[in-house]
Amino acid sequence: MNATYEPLCVVADRRALVLVLAQKADAVEQTNRVARSEHRAEPLPSVVRLIRYVRVPRRAAVPLTRRAVFARDGGRCVYCDLPATSLDHVVPRSRGGLHVWENVVSACRRCNHIKADRIISDLGWRMRHVPFQPIGPAWRILGSGRADPAWAPYLVDHAGGGAGHAAGRAVLEHLALPA
Ligand SMILES: [Zn+2]
Repeated sequence: MNATYEPLCVVADRRALVLVLAQKADAVEQTNRVARSEHRAEPLPSVVRLIRYVRVPRRAAVPLTRRAVFARDGGRCVYCDLPATSLDHVVPRSRGGLHVWENVVSACRRCNHIKADRIISDLGWRMRHVPFQPIGPAWRILGSGRADPAWAPYLVDHAGGGAGHAAGRAVLEHLALPA
């Protein structure tokens, strides 16, 4: 995290430890693992905060990748809640559906197969949540494909933007924590 607690990126455990030992960052959360060297054992941090603020250029929207969509949808099918295996266009591309955050969801093989080129109102299906475009630094962390429940308190408030509450819930869901 930045000095302001804004989530920045995911780094390897060792890199995080080096930042702490070099007094460039504080360990905000520790893991229960240690890094052993010849002379000592150091606890490995799970969340670190830079001591000096670094200016980060404002990056564009979170890229629409399979990993990021799975993160937003909690890794589960939006139609039936089973583990997701693929992406689905809610309005099929063959019917003019766009490849945008609001029309792309995670789905299981079975639902994807049954749905095929139909729209959900034809099938009487509902989605667990309305797909939204994730905004905010938390999503770059979640889109990295790594996640640790200890990160949740530092991500929830940065998942927001327009999506607000639903986004915060999605973060908790992705990290498998009760809302
Ligand atoms: Zn399904």
